[in-house]
Amino acid sequence: MDLHAPIKDLGRNFKMLAGRLEKLGIETPWDFLLHIPFRYDDFSLISKISEIQPGEIVTINGEVMEMKNQYTRRWKNLQRAKVKDDTGEIDVLWFNQLYLAKNITVGDKIALSGKVSADKNSLTMTAPDYELLTDGEPIHTGRLVPIYPETRGISSKWIRRQVKKFLDEIPVNFSDFLPSEIVAREKLLPLQTALLQIHFPKNLDEVTRARERLAFDELFLLQLRSKSKREEWVEEVKGIPFDTKKFEKQLSGFYKSLPFELTNSQNKSIIEILKDLTEKEPMNRLLQGDVGSGKTVVAMVAMYISHLNGYKSVLMAPTEILAMQHFNVISNLLSPFGIKVGLATGSSKYKVSGIKYEDKMKKIPNTSYLIHNTDIMVGTHSVLFKKIEPEKLGLVVIDEQQRFGVEQRSIIRKKGNNPHFLTMTATPIPRTVALTIYGDLDVSYLSDMPHGRKVIKTWLTPNSKREDAYKWIEKEIKTNKTQAFIICPFIEESETMQTIKAATVEFKKLKKEAFKNLNLELLHGKIKSKEKQKIMRDFKNKKFDILVATPLVEVGIDIPNATIIVIEAAERFGLSQLHQLRGRVGRSDMQSYCLLFTESQSSKAATRLKGMESIQSGAQLAELDLKLRGPGDIFGTMQHGMPKLKVASFSDTSLIQRASVGAEKILSRLSKFPKLEQELNNINSEQISPD
Ligand code: ADP
Ligand code: MG
Repeated sequence: MDLHAPIKDLGRNFKMLAGRLEKLGIETPWDFLLHIPFRYDDFSLISKISEIQPGEIVTINGEVMEMKNQYTRRWKNLQRAKVKDDTGEIDVLWFNQLYLAKNITVGDKIALSGKVSADKNSLTMTAPDYELLTDGEPIHTGRLVPIYPETRGISSKWIRRQVKKFLDEIPVNFSDFLPSEIVAREKLLPLQTALLQIHFPKNLDEVTRARERLAFDELFLLQLRSKSKREEWVEEVKGIPFDTKKFEKQLSGFYKSLPFELTNSQNKSIIEILKDLTEKEPMNRLLQGDVGSGKTVVAMVAMYISHLNGYKSVLMAPTEILAMQHFNVISNLLSPFGIKVGLATGSSKYKVSGIKYEDKMKKIPNTSYLIHNTDIMVGTHSVLFKKIEPEKLGLVVIDEQQRFGVEQRSIIRKKGNNPHFLTMTATPIPRTVALTIYGDLDVSYLSDMPHGRKVIKTWLTPNSKREDAYKWIEKEIKTNKTQAFIICPFIEESETMQTIKAATVEFKKLKKEAFKNLNLELLHGKIKSKEKQKIMRDFKNKKFDILVATPLVEVGIDIPNATIIVIEAAERFGLSQLHQLRGRVGRSDMQSYCLLFTESQSSKAATRLKGMESIQSGAQLAELDLKLRGPGDIFGTMQHGMPKLKVASFSDTSLIQRASVGAEKILSRLSKFPKLEQELNNINSEQISPD
């Protein structure tokens, strides 16, 4: 049997369940084998019937003495059995499982695992897991029994049976894809052994060993893939080398036009980027800098150089609002240098700087038009992705966009004429993780903040002080002529109607009560694009005092005059998200404040949120979150594009390191390992494509 065949081709039963299995990430028999138990029930101790106490969970092995269906009123039925071993007898009871009487017959050897209760003088096992002990080892009873991630209609027991079946199907001549030199050097289990042991271990040590092997594979493949992409990038791809020397004068003109001095690390990153841009192979650089460190202007330098060399640039932003903001900032700073900037977002409102409004409406039918007629195109990636045209595209800048994996970049690269790539992120990705996912990138760090920034005073504010806090906010706004954000709770994962409704209610209340003497506006994802733009523009131009918003303002919005941010239901955010939100203020030399409110009584939540009071660095907060909530959460909520690890963990730095060394050793000889190449192709095709 082909372990990589689509599961839905393996018979009616699988076909019917294919949808549900997909939810579990299972599409092939091989996926079943990599569906890793998240825990094991220890049913390994076989009890003698005479020694069982009521209330215990036990496994017994015995012989079936009696098995019958018993009908009760209202069409319910019971299955009653008696089972004996050489020490005694026990009653067994199931509900509404008529087929059991067909499966289990008197005289069968049977194992039962479950809870025991006392019924008058006799012991009863109610609805135990059972297994006939006819052939082979038991899988559901009398051992460490694997418990799997389940979904509706797909139980661990069912999964266990399929896994067992597929394990038995592994061909005799099955050979490992991991080169044997690595298996030997890293003292890893052979793959087949690891698979057997992860599902049906004899003891927990076996699980540890099996897990190590499978986690190694995962990290190894990931790194081998990014390393080989990088190699491709460096060796095969001919990009567009820009001239930068020739334009030194223009660049210094641009620097002089800025309302501020660049920081040391901005200067350093610019030097690194300019150097990349002159190379024959396309730039592929990650610019990592904490919230507010000033990444945009660095990207602008690259876009300006691209323009001076006669090439267009595209800037992709994760949200419409951020795209609009970039459009405004870039238009302001670069239009004086004769650069035309365009904007395209999901709601199809196209804009070009420097063209009159009436003309705009007539002249701009679509994104392709824009890409042809502007020098820098800003938009959300969903719009731009499909429209990118190879002609004259010199640079792609991707802002706060973890979803752009290795694959997406290589697609754009192939579509275009190998443009240069600059990816920007505030997400503090630990070095080991960056290596794993972004093995194919160079990294520049913005390690210092613009001059004059003050620490944002952060308070976890008890609800009893809410009214005082509101009064203080009003006073602050009035005396210092500053502005505030109020971030409403995340009701659900994404910006759903429920979240919007909650924000609307809160907005109305605040407007009528606490802040009736101030001007408030509401912003959420479902507001029309034009309206959104107006609200953001008005807020920037100080036309109103408080912006009440859903958490969509999280990423990137820049309103230097806003000095207060209130975050409701703060416990629902990861610390990194809170840090992003907090970064909406403290963007000038004025003192800024962040007030966190929470309804949660949990002391763990309080500890986490207290961390915000004392820690200002995004990287440290990410680490604290990692410690308090575990890696699943931090990477899960922040980084959609991070590869989902089935077995390994991004916090296992030593294994990441080992896998990296292994991948490095194989890289140049990859073609000598066809099975490994095959496996790499398998994970490549699993990549999600951008929406
Ligand atoms: P982020 O790195 O979070 O994307 P931005 O690029 O939006 O940050 O910059 C944040 C704010 O800091 C903007 O208002 C920007 O104009 C300003 N800024 C950028 N660089 C400097 C600097 N060197 N000195 C002072 N302000 C700066
Ligand atoms: Mg930004």
